[in-house]
Amino acid sequence: MSDTNHAVEATLDVAEPPPGYPTAWIEDAVLRDGATIRIRPIAPDDRDALQAMVRGMSHESSYQRFFRVKKELLPDELDYFTRLDYEKRMAFVAILDGRLVGVGRYDTVEAEPSAAEAAFAVSDDYQQRGIGSLLLNRLTKYAGLNGIDAFVAHVLADNHVMLRVFRSAGYKVTRDLEDGVFTVEFPTEGSESTAEIAAGREKRATAASLMPLLAPSSIAVIGASRNPSSIGGRLFANIVAGDFTGPVYPVNPTTPVVHSVAAYASVLDIPGPVDAAFIVVPAPFVIPVVRQCAEKGVRGIVVISAGFSETGEEGAALEAELLGVVRSSGMRMVGPNCMGLINTDAAIRLDGQFGPVVPPRGNVSLSSQSGALGLAILDYAAQLNIGIASFVSVGNLADVSGDDLLLYWEDDPATDVILLYMESFGNPRRFARVARRIARTKPIVAVKSGRTLSGARAASSHTGSLASFDVAVDALFRQAGVTRVDTLEGLFDVTGLLANQPIPGGRRVGVVTNAGGPAVLAVDALESLDLDVPELSESLQSQLGALLAAEASVGNPVDMIAAAGPGEYRAVLDVMLTSDELDAVIAIYIPPSPEGATEVAAALRAAGEEHHGGTTFLTVYMHSEGAPDVLSGGQSRIPSFAFPERAAKALHAAAEYGEWLQRPEGEIPEFDDVDRDRARRTIDAALESGDGEAVWLDADAVEAVLDSYRLSIPVSGVAGSEEEAIAIAADIDGPVVLKVISPSALHKSDVGGVVVGVVGPDEVGAAYRQVIAAVPDAEAALVQEYIAGDHEVLIGMVEDPNFGPLVVFGLGGVFVELIGDVAFRIHPLTDVDAGEMIQDVKSARLLEGYRGAEPGDVEAVEEALLRVSAMIEDLPEIDEMDLNPVKVRPPGEGVAVVDARIRVKPTELRPPSFDFRAVREVPE
Ligand code: ADP
Ligand code: MG
Repeated sequence: MSDTNHAVEATLDVAEPPPGYPTAWIEDAVLRDGATIRIRPIAPDDRDALQAMVRGMSHESSYQRFFRVKKELLPDELDYFTRLDYEKRMAFVAILDGRLVGVGRYDTVEAEPSAAEAAFAVSDDYQQRGIGSLLLNRLTKYAGLNGIDAFVAHVLADNHVMLRVFRSAGYKVTRDLEDGVFTVEFPTEGSESTAEIAAGREKRATAASLMPLLAPSSIAVIGASRNPSSIGGRLFANIVAGDFTGPVYPVNPTTPVVHSVAAYASVLDIPGPVDAAFIVVPAPFVIPVVRQCAEKGVRGIVVISAGFSETGEEGAALEAELLGVVRSSGMRMVGPNCMGLINTDAAIRLDGQFGPVVPPRGNVSLSSQSGALGLAILDYAAQLNIGIASFVSVGNLADVSGDDLLLYWEDDPATDVILLYMESFGNPRRFARVARRIARTKPIVAVKSGRTLSGARAASSHTGSLASFDVAVDALFRQAGVTRVDTLEGLFDVTGLLANQPIPGGRRVGVVTNAGGPAVLAVDALESLDLDVPELSESLQSQLGALLAAEASVGNPVDMIAAAGPGEYRAVLDVMLTSDELDAVIAIYIPPSPEGATEVAAALRAAGEEHHGGTTFLTVYMHSEGAPDVLSGGQSRIPSFAFPERAAKALHAAAEYGEWLQRPEGEIPEFDDVDRDRARRTIDAALESGDGEAVWLDADAVEAVLDSYRLSIPVSGVAGSEEEAIAIAADIDGPVVLKVISPSALHKSDVGGVVVGVVGPDEVGAAYRQVIAAVPDAEAALVQEYIAGDHEVLIGMVEDPNFGPLVVFGLGGVFVELIGDVAFRIHPLTDVDAGEMIQDVKSARLLEGYRGAEPGDVEAVEEALLRVSAMIEDLPEIDEMDLNPVKVRPPGEGVAVVDARIRVKPTELRPPSFDFRAVREVPE
């Protein structure tokens, strides 16, 4: 057994990172028991903590790690293990409870730099918790990025623990038994199955870690107050009034009783176990109180107190310290600076927030970054036909974030629809990956927030000036199948529809009404959103005609005229809701007089209930006092809108989501004709000249990189004199283009530095003189083959600090600059993404031969997009790129990049987009 008293404190962060220390790889992960652990690259400062770990290991373990009994490491061994180049030799350490509890390391072998020996050790007391898997995952990712293809690990045959780690990580291990030692060889890149296993673990472990918060068996309220108007007073009263199913303990050192309940001076005085603590004390007292919670064994805390990162630098430092305490003790935290949380599950009944509202129970779960807005949403919920399953006000998002909650709700049977009010992303890539999976089974609705993060970007290319935080969010939501709404009104409308009706299987909408005007508005709104209001078939029309007065029109919209009552509505809806000609039906009703209005509402409801689950059903009840309760009350809710336009918008969002569900996932194609090495050498050479700064590639380098990815470029040559220009042009078939080469001319044609369609030596000579005269610092002229073709498109890329590379597509020239008709996607692109990007750009219809235009080679454009994506994947140094224009030739004849700018910058080794926190182990 180890002796914990002699353990040396290990620090979460590295005070003085050595040169080359990969700080990007410092991360926290959740273990299968819900504790949070830090995994980071080892540093020289870890010497003592490592020694303490080795000293604490049992003989058996250290024999398994080192194949001989090691009581401790010698000084030079400690140096060897802690001083690394982070490339050929690498190690990650695991820190928990202020101790170094695990190490995973690799060493490349001189003879074979693409293979490395890997070794793992985990303290005896911390085994079986998934730490080995975490280290293994991290190390394989890192090695893969460092050009190491395979690991070799030597494992004693009786080290079942480690063998299990390898197996459960999804690696195909080839084992070779020699002298009682298994040699396990495995690739460093995660295979498909590793990614899947990791995703399953991530979900289960995150959900488990949030259980104490969302489904606690016992709660303490620290800072519970006798003052009924204080936050601590209201929160405690709400929890009690909400009839929480477990015990709730008020903690207050200055009073013996709170709200008729005996109070404790400290959380440590509470006799029973405490799962979750709500903390409502002033900011300076929060950390001491949280330390006590850790000591008490509390597993989740909700820090309501404000005064942290939202207040500025000092508060941010306090928050960082708070997070450190939370993480090192393995708790999870909601907040700080939040309004609390709610779980309406009958088995929990936790009303853990301090607002005045009790929302109705239902199937919508909500996370809000703005507490006040969250409460407003709860307030409106009842009125707006939405029931709440759970609500979390995430506050400053120091620990628990929207993506953690997504993982919790993914398998939560009470949650059918997930609603997010977000102002920022903790980790956009992780969000995208998680949301994309969950949206396949549960709709996710997110409100756009006006806050921009990246701010003004120095616009040095077309792509750079087009990109913004907002387009990135749009692209991310779109690719992940998240329904984005711009207004709170939209949020309620869409959520109410998705929560209570099936997702429409198509865009065909039937409209039934008792008044012509609103039906016209509805049809206009539907059609402007690209929804169809098809003429009904003859047989359907005659079926409907038989039910209605002769003056009624039955084509669609079905106008039953003002005399229509509950009987007509019911009969007509029975026909329309069961017809296979429609995917959705909107029933509009304007009460012509107070009589019979409630009966019509009842008929709408009855029809909706009877046919529930088939055709999507919406009602528009146009009355200043809103729809009668009969439409909204009870368990089954019929979505009801005050205006036809709002119904149309909500339906449109639902239909788009339905289409996303049906859309094939697509594939990221691999191109085996590309020359990565050549592109890499070109970029490395350019970076060397850049002296650590970002540089624009020169014309030759641009050509080499494009050519390496088989993006076709015109024949060209650089001319330093008129005679050279004429000679180069003579070697090129057909007309040529001359362009000035100069450091100042970013947009050459703007200054008269481009002459196209030049034929014959005289014209070439004149064009040469013209382009050279265009700018004072002209260096030479590019003589380029003239590429015919009616269409010009832009393909670009810019690296967003939050989202990673964004790819843009648009029609070249004025379309891009003037009307911003462009489509963005987050890299990497699948073939489906590439096709959709082109579809999304309205003016790209010209490529298809719209209105007599010559059609272009759309397939080649798609392929060019995918090749650019492959290039971005292979060459993370590319930071900005503009291929503008790419000339599109007629179908079958391909495309040619006639003008390109590529900027590269030195990159730190970055973690792959597959997030580390993906690997969280739970019991099998
Ligand atoms: P810049 O963008 O710096 O003004 P470009 O090289 O893009 O310069 O040239 C401007 C325009 O000239 C292009 O948008 C395109 O219409 C035309 N052009 C340039 N090169 C060629 C070429 N090789 N073949 C046909 N047209 C060209
Ligand atoms: Mg250009």
